[in-house]
Order: sequence, then structure tokens, then C-alpha cells
Amino acid sequence: MAARGDVASSAGRGWVTLKKGNLPVKTCVTCERPFTWRKKWARCWNDVRYCSERCRRNKPINQ
Ligand SMILES: [Zn+2]
Repeated sequence: MAARGDVASSAGRGWVTLKKGNLPVKTCVTCERPFTWRKKWARCWNDVRYCSERCRRNKPINQ
């Protein structure tokens, strides 16, 4: 799926129903706190596991 350009062009993946105040939420595997979908994760939301760059570097030891 090499759809470069506008994010809107990558529609048709399923979770396109994004409304304000009703964004997808995940739990950070490092700090175990819920975090909300952000635009910078639009392309890789399925792979996002950490709420922030800091948590990404502080991966939990046991896994
Ligand atoms: Zn975190």
C-alpha cells in the first residue's frame, strides 16, 4: 500500500470513522496508561505500542 500524499487517500482500511472526542485509544505497554490516536500515527496506528518517544525507549524488560 504505497499511497503517498494525503492521509485521506489511505481511506478504506476500516477505522476511518474518526470523530472529535471519539478517537481510538490504546494502552502504553511501558507506562500502562491509555493514550489517544494522534495524526502522526495515522499510518502506523496498528503498530503503535508506546504513548511517547520516552516510553518507546523505556521498553518493559520482561517481554
Ligand atoms: Zn507510556
